[in-house]
Amino acid sequence: MKRLVLKFGGTSVANLERIAHVAEIVAARYQECPALAVVVSAMSGKTNELVEWTKEAAGPALHGAEYDDEYDVVVASGEQVTAGLLALALRKRGLKARSWLGWQLQLKTDTAHGKARILGCDNPAFQKSVDSGEIAVVAGFQGVDDHGRVATLGRGGSDTSAVAVAAALKAGLCDIYTDVDGVYTTDPRITPKARRLEKISYEEMLELASLGAKVLQTRSVELAMNHRVPVRVLSSFEGPVAQPNSGTLVCDEEQIVEKQVVSGVAYSRDEAKFTLIGVDDHPGVAAIIFGELADAGVNVDMIVQASAKSEGRQNIVFTAPDRDAAHAGAVLEKARDKIGYQGLNVARDVAKVSVIGVGMRSHAGVAKTMFQALSAKGINIQVISTSEIKISVLIDANYTELAVRALHTAYGLDAD
Ligand code: ADP
Ligand code: ASP
Ligand code: MG
Repeated sequence: MKRLVLKFGGTSVANLERIAHVAEIVAARYQECPALAVVVSAMSGKTNELVEWTKEAAGPALHGAEYDDEYDVVVASGEQVTAGLLALALRKRGLKARSWLGWQLQLKTDTAHGKARILGCDNPAFQKSVDSGEIAVVAGFQGVDDHGRVATLGRGGSDTSAVAVAAALKAGLCDIYTDVDGVYTTDPRITPKARRLEKISYEEMLELASLGAKVLQTRSVELAMNHRVPVRVLSSFEGPVAQPNSGTLVCDEEQIVEKQVVSGVAYSRDEAKFTLIGVDDHPGVAAIIFGELADAGVNVDMIVQASAKSEGRQNIVFTAPDRDAAHAGAVLEKARDKIGYQGLNVARDVAKVSVIGVGMRSHAGVAKTMFQALSAKGINIQVISTSEIKISVLIDANYTELAVRALHTAYGLDAD
């Protein structure tokens, strides 16, 4: 049976008026496919508010396991509200609809509260309900762990809920409705010259998302790629019936005829740069540093090692998410004697800017273009990292927008 999954983000369900508009879109899509599940986010701004409330209630004394499970109970509530409201708005239009919370759906997750991973979603009652023509309105962002406790999927996680539901239902398409009409060559809020892409490969979308383009949560792309779920990104701010060529399809590379060397530019300000000065230069020291950080749950990204001025010593520079800066700094301080270093410097005013494209596999000179474009604007590069289909540089955060625009132009991505 043909099944369809739609997802609406925070700005699309920001108030009752927007929810009524979403109901209109859902009603139109129901005509096309009556086996329909709709995943919703919390109203925009709601999750931030709930997060702040948990911080205030817990104070600085509670963290880790003492905090995260109840954090999830609180922050998951935003999606419960919008799921119920949309189900009501659909009933008002004479459609059969009901809400499904994570635990009712049996969307199973691990126990990593606050950033849980989906393990599976196998619920015959849910499938039966969808196939009977009753619209399933699913509260995104939430699942249930092995202990029966609520777990949330990390910020932006409703995208991942939608893809998981689409995979479970073997849906032919997962439409992600948001406040932009597709995936652009870069964040359209940074440059009006950004261009909408008609199609983008799973691999490139995965890099774009993980390097900062928050239009899709990284894990949703991972899941879509693994289960081969076709995902389309489109706007909820247009009429109820999507135009045939609107939006961006995230699909297999083979389905894309016109391949660009560079498809997009992404940026992230959520970076902190750590410099360990005068580290003892002996085998095993990097294993100690990054072992301590890994054990503390810090996700390290770029790493550079260079000899220091003093004999037998080196400097090690690495980046980690800015939200982990204080925690990572404390871990390194505590392990100072074990590691053996002379100084630690943490810079939080840095940003990572990246260019992404599968064409890099077969084209030379991509890095040269990047470095020349940045140099022409007088932007200093602090750290560089590359993979098969991306190049990232760490720069002063004040130059983020300038760098994104310069690179967008340099790779010929600007709209006419
Ligand atoms: P939602 O609430 O619908 O989940 P998000 O705010 O999470 O929406 O994601 C949509 C936003 O992603 C857009 O408003 C846009 O500013 C941003 N964005 C960043 N990079 C891109 C990109 N390459 N293409 C489209 N949007 C992007
Ligand atoms: N409401 C959650 C958040 O703001 C999940 C989502 O919107 O996807 O992160
Ligand atoms: Mg989002």
